[in-house]
Amino acid sequence: MSRLGRVVLVGAGPGDPDLITLRGAKMLAKADVIFYDELATNELLDHAKDRAVLINVGKRGHDEPTRTQDEINSLLLEHARQGRTVVRLKGGDPLVFGRGGEEMSLCAAAGIPFEIVPGVTSAVAALAYAGIPVTDRRHSASFAVVTGHKDPSRVSEQTRWRALGQSVDTLVILMGMRNLPRLVGELLAGGKSPETPAAAVMNGTLPEQRTCVSTLGELAAVAEREGISAPAVVVVGDVVGLRDGLSWWERQPLFGRNVLVTRASQQSAELAAALRSVGAAPVLEPMIEFSEIEDPVGQAKIASAIAMLDQTQSIVFTSSNAVRFFARALESIRGEGGVSASGLAGIHTFCVGERTAQVALAAGFPVHVVATGRSDAEALLGQLLQSPPAGGERVLIPGSQIARTLIADGLRAAGAQVDCVTFYENRRPDIDVAGLRGRLMRGELHALTFTSPSTVDHFVECLDDESREAAGQCMIAAIGRTTARQLESVGFRPDVVPSRPDVSVMVEELAAAVKGD
Ligand code: SAH
Repeated sequence: MSRLGRVVLVGAGPGDPDLITLRGAKMLAKADVIFYDELATNELLDHAKDRAVLINVGKRGHDEPTRTQDEINSLLLEHARQGRTVVRLKGGDPLVFGRGGEEMSLCAAAGIPFEIVPGVTSAVAALAYAGIPVTDRRHSASFAVVTGHKDPSRVSEQTRWRALGQSVDTLVILMGMRNLPRLVGELLAGGKSPETPAAAVMNGTLPEQRTCVSTLGELAAVAEREGISAPAVVVVGDVVGLRDGLSWWERQPLFGRNVLVTRASQQSAELAAALRSVGAAPVLEPMIEFSEIEDPVGQAKIASAIAMLDQTQSIVFTSSNAVRFFARALESIRGEGGVSASGLAGIHTFCVGERTAQVALAAGFPVHVVATGRSDAEALLGQLLQSPPAGGERVLIPGSQIARTLIADGLRAAGAQVDCVTFYENRRPDIDVAGLRGRLMRGELHALTFTSPSTVDHFVECLDDESREAAGQCMIAAIGRTTARQLESVGFRPDVVPSRPDVSVMVEELAAAVKGD
């Protein structure tokens, strides 16, 4: 490959994976290689394409990095020289104490094209999430962001703490926890009042965020007593006083609470994001995984269902997985391009709910009927039977090996010829059973979420008597009535069943239930 690649320096944002910029996320999706430091969560890497190579090059905090800066530099250049799009992902903004400048200077010197995507810096974001505006017309017209790291480099040795304390209204210190007493000493020696409001925000923007508020004189002792340590942002100035009225993140209904997500890993991102937006820490423990059918007999059945499509009048999608695996099979059998426009032309397409319909439209299928109201199999059957199929009409229902037969039975009773075809398999993945039981028994999980009956079954299979009892103490949310009934049948009482089977609504109602408890 003679074409030159490029290096894109991308700011990852301060912690919450939703706080990356749109351009940053797009670059991650384009990258062939991603170099990242230890991240607060690995969810950002979900933006990467499947074939991207992910290389962890660092550790958080003051410890020795796993690779030296020289090694990182030469790796970046090497990959770019081979024509690849290389993303260098860095916490916060890459040019705020992130050594991004050094790495880009190197690219410039080597003649490698580079780009920079700024990020949301923790210096501002951690304060925002603590309810501390970095400037405020009533209190502060300037701020400075200063490193508190005892770096042997000359620049930081010369940091004029005393002068800074006098000339800037809001002082924000990154990497300052280890040297906090010394830094405070410098500021006091420069004449800053020990009564100046001061705070430290640890793990800002995350469900683990913790904030301590004090005065400059007391801050080091208070932070130590309250166990506030790196990574934390220290802020000194009158704006800290605004936090009393403006603290919002730590007041989110599910703030800091662990919530179990049992959904398949390919599908958990939306639920995890919804949970994070109300302050919860999603604990991802997928209880199901989906895979294509591998055995030849099953594959032959799929092929014949697809061959019969031109004699099929209707198709019923009972889940977004059914759409995805059907689309995949159609594509692999008919070849690319066969899927979208012409794939289902002339066939009536029914979807169990909005979500399924969206996925079907995105796959290029027409959608004629979407079940409204509670959007479940019962609702869809009711709608299907409003204009019953003509006798002998052929209906295809793609599903998994454990699909429910409610719709098929109803349509058959009405005279249709129904083919329920297994397009994908629903399996139980390997689960850290001991770890899960331990978390339940230690009371670490505040709520459990279930998004299908099989997530319930596989969860229950993991329990022993004691952890089962502990699970009964958690808040339990079920995405819809079918899942709720499954929970009841194995002895659990769901606290939340949303009015619509939608993960965002489920999380909203879970948050409301917690608020009310
Ligand atoms: N480029 C980064 C800063 C890197 S220096 C940025 O723009 O945010 C690392 C320091 O950033 C940490 O020692 C800590 O002071 C601060 N930091 C990073 N993430 C943080 C977070 N989520 N909460 C509080 N401080 C954080």
